[in-house]
Amino acid sequence: MTERRTIIVPSPHGPVTVSEPDWCVTHGQDALDYRAFTHRGADFNINIKTPTGSRTLLTGRLEQPVWPTTGRTTDMIYSLDFAYGDTACDPEQLRAVYRSAAGQLRQLLDRADQLEVLRGGGR
Ligand SMILES: [Zn+2]
Repeated sequence: MTERRTIIVPSPHGPVTVSEPDWCVTHGQDALDYRAFTHRGADFNINIKTPTGSRTLLTGRLEQPVWPTTGRTTDMIYSLDFAYGDTACDPEQLRAVYRSAAGQLRQLLDRADQLEVLRGGGR
């Protein structure tokens, strides 16, 4: 039997021991608000090939807040950070960017299935 990992997180009433999800690799936190403490999984980058090199379109990761706040539960979510930048394309380059993006974006469906399983559902 595998022993469940735990970590100690800050609270106004002193340190609290909470379960550490297997997928957690780092934590988000805020020095001013203890309620911001969040489990974070490994980053997953969607990188699109462009005429001037690879660009990160977005970065996603599993996240789960330790504390509920107004408008936020402790449910596990998949967080998406969108990036930006520009590159000039001719028609063929634009088609190549589309093919690269479509293949990468397809992987978001796999992430949705993974999240559903981790939340106790599943397909
Ligand atoms: Zn964690």
